[in-house]
Amino acid sequence: MKIIFTAHVEGDYGMKKKKFLHLDNFIKIIKDINIPITLALGVGGNVDDSLLRYFTRYYVPDGVELALHYHFKEGENILESRNNIDIYTEKFYDNFGFRPTSIVFGHWTIKPEILQYCSELGYNVDGSYTPYRSGESFVIKNPFRYHGLIEVPVVSNGYSPLNPFLKLSHYLIVDYLIRRYFKKDIVFHVGFHSYDRNLKRIFNFAHKYKKFFVTLSDVNHFFNTEYSCLKKEPFIDTVRRIKWKFMRL
Ligand SMILES: [Zn+2]
Repeated sequence: MKIIFTAHVEGDYGMKKKKFLHLDNFIKIIKDINIPITLALGVGGNVDDSLLRYFTRYYVPDGVELALHYHFKEGENILESRNNIDIYTEKFYDNFGFRPTSIVFGHWTIKPEILQYCSELGYNVDGSYTPYRSGESFVIKNPFRYHGLIEVPVVSNGYSPLNPFLKLSHYLIVDYLIRRYFKKDIVFHVGFHSYDRNLKRIFNFAHKYKKFFVTLSDVNHFFNTEYSCLKKEPFIDTVRRIKWKFMRL
């Protein structure tokens, strides 16, 4: 198993306001856990590019990947989205000196034309795929190629992504799934927010499964080689098969 934790880094009020008081504590936790992890920096919404600028004050430890987290505006058309992503990618470069290669979209929204455009901009990996939105009941689905990018689906319960730092039941299910499958050749991707209330639970995972952690962009390196077996096992487990577990929690 490879474990990917992607933090959607946003303002104190999500993408509604330009306030970032929670980030000091969040960054302290990220430094203390000391595992490879992906921080997808929020752009768009009312936050615009202010988080990118604010974030430059932090020292980012080795092994931490910085990615882009783009929130579509309501009613935004494809041309506007392309234009915005282009602008924010350049602003990311202006602030950090390199271009991100992983992207995560707000509200788990996936648009094929935008994925294609992102691949032209130099992105390799998208971490926004949720199986249930495509009518699939997989709890865990392995990465696959889609419109020029590698999709790395998040683990979900068939209705919503599992966020172990928001709900205790999700934490217990995620812990159970990792324990059950950690010997399998799968990618286990968890999405959460920088402002989640129970972030300290991350220490339990970091402590127990440290050597299994990789970043989103790492998938680009092992997708065609080490994980060629993914073809044989494109996904594992469905909501139906482990429903007994969900019912108990
Ligand atoms: Zn978001």
